[in-house]
Amino acid sequence: MQCTKCNCSLDDSNLVKCVKCQNSLHIACTSLSSLSGDSLKNRVSSWLCSTCEAAKLGVKKTTLHTLSDMDYSTNIDHILTAVNEIKSTLSKHEEFFVKLNRKIDDVSNVAPPHLKIK
Ligand SMILES: [Zn+2]
Ligand SMILES: [Zn+2]
Repeated sequence: MQCTKCNCSLDDSNLVKCVKCQNSLHIACTSLSSLSGDSLKNRVSSWLCSTCEAAKLGVKKTTLHTLSDMDYSTNIDHILTAVNEIKSTLSKHEEFFVKLNRKIDDVSNVAPPHLKIK
């Protein structure tokens, strides 16, 4: 048996097995390396490899390997929505600057005659 991360051989004493895909890694090759004692034991008993963890956190009922076209277009929709929000925020700022410029013009128009630039 080999660690799927570093490809070195594993022995039973320091490995952790993904409960979903059964991939085995050295504990030291996972995020569990910082844990010890009971917290390590608890995590090892229900550990997911990074692939399965990402799939669990990702789009529901899909894994990262099998994202369908539908999921891609949903993701692109999300991105486009975000981009449009940013654009509308920027245009508000533009309006603000246009108004600000007008106010500056107004102020220079009402300035006393001796301050006016000829
Ligand atoms: Zn390893
Ligand atoms: Zn896994």
